[in-house]
Amino acid sequence: MGCMNTTCTESTAGVKVKTEPLAVLAARAACGLEEAIEGFLRASDENLGHLEQEAAQGVMELLRRSVAKGAQAKADKAPPDCPVCGHKLSRLSDGHSRTFQTRFGQITIQRTRGYCQRCRKWRVPADAVLGLAETAGYSPAVQDMASLLASKMPVGEASAVLEHLTGVKLPPATLDREARRQGQRARAVRRKLDEQANGATAVPAELVLEPYQMIIQMDAWNIRERDGWGKTQSLRRAGQEPERWHWVYTGTCFRLDQRGQTAGGRPVISERGFVATREGIDGLREQLHAEALRRGLGQAAGALVIADGAVWIWRLADDRFKDARQRLDFYHAVQHLAAVGRALFGEDKAKLKEWLRPLVRQLQNQSAIKVIHQLEEILKGLPEGTTVEAVRKEVAYFHEHQDRMDYRKGRRQGEPIGSGAIESTCRQAQCRFKRPGQYWSREGDESLLCLETFWRNHRWHLLFPHTTFKPARN
Ligand SMILES: [Zn+2]
Repeated sequence: MGCMNTTCTESTAGVKVKTEPLAVLAARAACGLEEAIEGFLRASDENLGHLEQEAAQGVMELLRRSVAKGAQAKADKAPPDCPVCGHKLSRLSDGHSRTFQTRFGQITIQRTRGYCQRCRKWRVPADAVLGLAETAGYSPAVQDMASLLASKMPVGEASAVLEHLTGVKLPPATLDREARRQGQRARAVRRKLDEQANGATAVPAELVLEPYQMIIQMDAWNIRERDGWGKTQSLRRAGQEPERWHWVYTGTCFRLDQRGQTAGGRPVISERGFVATREGIDGLREQLHAEALRRGLGQAAGALVIADGAVWIWRLADDRFKDARQRLDFYHAVQHLAAVGRALFGEDKAKLKEWLRPLVRQLQNQSAIKVIHQLEEILKGLPEGTTVEAVRKEVAYFHEHQDRMDYRKGRRQGEPIGSGAIESTCRQAQCRFKRPGQYWSREGDESLLCLETFWRNHRWHLLFPHTTFKPARN
């Protein structure tokens, strides 16, 4: 190589380190790139991908050293104040060295440590300034990548994908740990955001030109976790089965005026909020209420909750969305009609269809009362037996939800009559969280679900402020 090969000495935090100036490294990297191009031209079996790979490799050391230099300089400048409470630190000492994995390789930083008398804790201000305070040793860029990948795919795959795309090596267990740590941090950020939203007394003075409705949907699905593992035998001896399936409560909310259609007629919602939690119905209630407020519930002309018949949903709605109208998911109502049909006609599918079609049409275009009257007439004519029991149960169901079946009015007003939006949300989340062989803990699940919702709600930058990327509409 025809480059200069000078070295110089830099002083960082009192430690003498032998390093080359960045300009020298840059010149050497440029020479390396020229050589890579030469080699690329000679090699008949290489396509552009080979050059891309080699070029990225060729500047890696330059990037690593730039990042290390900047990190150290910023660490040296960090004021000796407590990053949590702002109090002046005492008992300061220099030279606390720690190595971090960045996306360009490992760097070691010398930091100053001090004691905060107010918090009664040792603090390293440089770590807070650099975004290294809550990590097992990874830079914000690596924290970001680990969190995103772990919330999208199993950690074994995530580890391989990360290394393939970036060269960063994080073994699955390490990646998992870091993602959960970031998930914990995300939960703290979410708590703060939710408190702000739920506690805001004044409605933000946003000018709303057209009155809009806020649509809220809820659902729940099962997740398998590992709690009670290792205790299986003792639990069984005590006559108990270990509980491994748990509910994940999910909600979505959007403004009706932000719901449009694709060219193919499929409904799309340009802006909508997601909530998914393992913190029970109470957790969902508070998180979904906060999300709805952030999405404009406070300024909405009205709100509408659409869901299946689950009792907990309507209780939650009565409790936290008192003023909202309620609508039973149309397709669930149809399923209950079909259940009556099956009780009447058994396996005779043709007869069932013939009976069902006009009723479904009436339910959709006329009124639920009309349908219920017909069911009652059928019930009257049935002899006692198992069939009458099944039909009676369904009639009771329709009575219970009678006021939630205003499908005709809903359609006329351009509102959804089904809870398709939440069901597709659940399906997507289940793809990630229900893969075979993944048994997690409640804490771990909650952390990953929290990361997932930050991503879907386009708030990733609140966790990783260096990222400006906004995902395409989902
Ligand atoms: Zn403090």
